[in-house]
Amino acid sequence: MSPSNQESVIPFNRPFIVGKELFYISQAVLGGKLAGDGMFTKRCNAWLEQKFAAKKVLLTTSCTTAIEMCAILAGISPGDEVIMPSYTFVSTANAFVLRGATIRFVDIRPDTLNLDEKLIEAAITKKTKAIVPVHYAGVSCEMDAILDIAKRHKLMVIEDAAQGVNATYKGRYLGTLGNLAAYSFHETKNFISGEGGALVINDPGYIERAEIIREKGTNRSKFFRGEVDKYTWVDIGSSYLPSEIIAAFLYAQLEEADVITRKRWAIYSYYAEQLAPLQDRGFLQLPSSPPECHHNAHMFYIVLRTAEERDDLIPFLRQNGIQAVFHYIPLHTSPMGLSMGGKPGSLPVTENIAPRLLRLPCYFELEKDHQDRVVRTIERFFQGHRN
Ligand SMILES: *Cc1c(COP(=O)(O)O)cnc(C)c1O
Repeated sequence: MSPSNQESVIPFNRPFIVGKELFYISQAVLGGKLAGDGMFTKRCNAWLEQKFAAKKVLLTTSCTTAIEMCAILAGISPGDEVIMPSYTFVSTANAFVLRGATIRFVDIRPDTLNLDEKLIEAAITKKTKAIVPVHYAGVSCEMDAILDIAKRHKLMVIEDAAQGVNATYKGRYLGTLGNLAAYSFHETKNFISGEGGALVINDPGYIERAEIIREKGTNRSKFFRGEVDKYTWVDIGSSYLPSEIIAAFLYAQLEEADVITRKRWAIYSYYAEQLAPLQDRGFLQLPSSPPECHHNAHMFYIVLRTAEERDDLIPFLRQNGIQAVFHYIPLHTSPMGLSMGGKPGSLPVTENIAPRLLRLPCYFELEKDHQDRVVRTIERFFQGHRN
């Protein structure tokens, strides 16, 4: 539907160039190595390792494939159980389902919409192999509690840090807290390369096998380092490494990570400040972040009072040229989740919040007057609504 006025459409997201992306891509092409693991991939890996104090980072083609690698590295096999929130992207679950695991969905906290650490232990059985915390909106899960549970029950912790790149928990970067983690550089995330991701390995015992799985099950990485004199098939694997074009684009973004983060923080803070009066009047709920979590302004969402109000606000914004979008259909209530035994009604917080949540436009190039238009339009929507 086109907006009813002459103003330009404010998209939900817009990919952007911040610095040397196109220059680096041409360098990659002219440099004579366009396949994976060239100079730009190595630079990205090193940048991420140093900045976040991670033991090992390997770029992947997406966060989805990075989680798939985690599932293989964790040795997940048919019959194993994996604990995760239902309020997450399909890839969190698919990666483990592909290995034959059964997913145990656990409810979320009403404040952060993250896995409720108090409900995890009740979901653990003899078959449980791993806990997968998802850092929603770049706000960390309660990692001390989760790591403690994992230690006592001898479970792996695999962080889905797709949204959590450059965010911290008690001063440590998300993605470096579990045994393994996955980042996303999809165009909707903070630092982008179109499609793209990274596997983070904090437990050095997994590094060698990760390199093999990522290179189609061959020991090619060792071969390139001169550690073996020919490379061959040694394990299962797939093609999980991105082209140098992707890495070149990403490296230019990482170089400007502080600029990008500052800009996103300005957008986030402005929404929070401008929409606070509507929260005070009881119309909506703004995101919150515990003091030990320093988030990365990945997302700005509001939670409306009812699903009906949310479903009315979306077309109201659209008619005013503003694209705002809801987020996950809880996985346990999706067709695939239901076919795996998901029971509607079993996760009350998830099912209560999901239909009321709305994400507002939030991207690097979002202009102040456009953001003002979003705020004023939401205010206008509530004029005449009773609080
Ligand atoms: C974006 C996202 C993914 C998938 O990332 P891709 O890089 O697109 O594969 C997985 N999990 C969560 C929580 C995400 O937000």
